[in-house]
Amino acid sequence: MAISVSNDSRAYGAGVVQDTDGLGPALPPQPQSIGTPLTGFSPQDLYVGSSGGKPKVVLAQVSPPSGNNVKSSFKDPDYASGANYVLNSPMYSKASPAVQAKVQNDLSTLERSPSYAAASGKMKEMLPKIVGSMSLSGASNPGNKVMNNTVDQVLSGRVTLNLYDQAPNNNPNDPLNASGYTSDSQNIHVNINPQVKNPLFGTIAHETNHALNGDASVLGDSDRFLAEYRAHLASERASGGEPQSPQAQAALQSRVLKMVQSRYPEYPALYNSKSDPSFNAAVDGLNKDLAAGKPVDPEQLRQLYQTAYGSSASSYVSKQQNTDNSK
Ligand SMILES: [Zn+2]
Repeated sequence: MAISVSNDSRAYGAGVVQDTDGLGPALPPQPQSIGTPLTGFSPQDLYVGSSGGKPKVVLAQVSPPSGNNVKSSFKDPDYASGANYVLNSPMYSKASPAVQAKVQNDLSTLERSPSYAAASGKMKEMLPKIVGSMSLSGASNPGNKVMNNTVDQVLSGRVTLNLYDQAPNNNPNDPLNASGYTSDSQNIHVNINPQVKNPLFGTIAHETNHALNGDASVLGDSDRFLAEYRAHLASERASGGEPQSPQAQAALQSRVLKMVQSRYPEYPALYNSKSDPSFNAAVDGLNKDLAAGKPVDPEQLRQLYQTAYGSSASSYVSKQQNTDNSK
């Protein structure tokens, strides 16, 4: 894949949004108080990466296909193997008939989707394992809007999920050296390598959020900060659960803000340079509200930008944000 990359900002080369999160330390497990915890999955199950130093590739708590329970409705044997990985899982067998029917229907839809058409080799088996596990998790946790919306966007073909497998290699100019990236408004690319420490479902939600918001266009650092705050929040909501109370929302947003600041040093650098007073004013507004325990969702942050930049606000800032991956 030929992608030109420049490392002068996160506006990588040919409009590629790169997320280097996979190179950093694993996120701590989601505190239970942040949101409504996902049921049926422990936080560790959502990580495709290593755990305690040992490689851990876990999608759902599943057993290998048992042979006598193989569904035959899938055309491709590789796809059927991946789908049956989900359909033979203990979590699936414990699910309600309605959830089971939803997952089976989603797996049939997925086999006709652009994401399946784009899959080759072992990804023909990995795609139904991963998206089927997300479907099962989402259907079992209907309150998790980001998770369920993300599955819908992949199934409808609005977003094409391209899977790849590349070990992190310490090359900051390599767009594949990441947990995922978004190459245009439709295509997202997610690394399933076991050494990537990010939660897989979260990365898929994160990159879907970038695609839906048109973030693959070249943005300045100020706008990209807004984009990463929003996409990281989508990732945390999908993998850790949906916060209910305003206090829990503000706590999660504070954590996401710290994460974005530590992972993308250009944003603290821009702030500290004081070269863009409007950016500093918007960030100060964000910090002030979060410090007071008041939630600032990405749409509210966008409005802080509009106030701070006034008539010089970018066209990006004038568009409403898609925060939950809805249609
Ligand atoms: Zn991102």
